[in-house]
Amino acid sequence: MKTYRIAVVRGDGIGPEVIASALEVLAGARRLVAGFGVELIEAPAGAETYREQGEALPASTLSACRAADAILLGACGLPDVRYPDGTEIIPQVTLRIELDLYAGIRPARRLEGVPGALAGDPAIDLVIVRESTEGIFASLGGGIVLGDQLATDTQVITRRGTERVVHSAFRLARRRSRARPRVTCVDKANILRSFAFFRQVFDEVAALYPDVKADHLYVDAAAMELVRRPEHFDVLVTENLLGDILSDLAAGLIGGLGVAPSADLGDRHAVFQPCHGTAPDLAGTGVANPLAAILSVVMLLDHLADTHGDPAPAAAARQIEQAVTTALASGEARTADLGGNATTSDATAAILRKFGSSH
Ligand code: ATP
Ligand code: MG
Repeated sequence: MKTYRIAVVRGDGIGPEVIASALEVLAGARRLVAGFGVELIEAPAGAETYREQGEALPASTLSACRAADAILLGACGLPDVRYPDGTEIIPQVTLRIELDLYAGIRPARRLEGVPGALAGDPAIDLVIVRESTEGIFASLGGGIVLGDQLATDTQVITRRGTERVVHSAFRLARRRSRARPRVTCVDKANILRSFAFFRQVFDEVAALYPDVKADHLYVDAAAMELVRRPEHFDVLVTENLLGDILSDLAAGLIGGLGVAPSADLGDRHAVFQPCHGTAPDLAGTGVANPLAAILSVVMLLDHLADTHGDPAPAAAARQIEQAVTTALASGEARTADLGGNATTSDATAAILRKFGSSH
């Protein structure tokens, strides 16, 4: 039996509240599914850690994350805690760079019992794969500001950066085992050379996956199609900033940040975290929606199953999914952001009660 080491970064604001809920649900699933073990390793980071230890990402946390099979992270950062020079405390970004997590995986799947934003409630089940290390965010050479008249940033698209993220999009499309897997490249290749290059590299990689349909959309058209016909998408792969924007759009379609999980994958490390931030307005009130964190645990378990060829964590993931679906459908897990009045602990308890129950 394999025991997986999971580093737990609880973070700030609602981070520790939703992570505690997600860990309760993980423990509940493990009671049902034998065949794998979990060792949790506390790995403090964030604004509170900075306040207490003078470091937002202590070396011991970084090495615990490096040694772990997966990392579960709550959001980090608080508006009133900053570095002396005024910059934000965002250890999750440092972690992404240190661990070379280049593929941001943002699934958007409609859950029964969660009111979506669109009329007719289409059956949305798509994943946005966001390149996370370059693009316009990288702006190698830095942005340039000329007096108070002009400023520029430079988009950086490399062959290596594009190839690896496109490969992970195609591998993901295969793993989702749909009848007709498909990866859509989203860019602005008609206007920017850097995007034309992104598309060219995409096409080269796509040719290596003849079993997966490959197509392209300009980002403006993709934004419209995501609203008009979201059920037509499977996997989308795109540059950093475009992915940032489109994945929030997709989260909005399926019920908001409270239910949107994410993964940041590299070749050796993987971080799983809710898409939302620390929501300081909700911290301590006990009403934060824990579903995004719980669904991040589902992604974490599936990742362990994929990378270790071990069906046990995937079985636990299916148990959690089933319990979440049942609890949502009954209305018991509906927190305020979903139009209900369940607290974080009500929603957690409802999901735990559904374990093993067959609807
Ligand atoms: P960051 O700057 O850390 O990316 P943000 O300040 O842009 O984050 P969030 O902290 O993610 O945004 O949240 C924005 C708002 O969405 C919160 O103030 C809160 O009202 C709501 N929200 C976010 N997460 C949740 C959640 N899990 N449950 C309920 N509401 C949430
Ligand atoms: Mg914030």
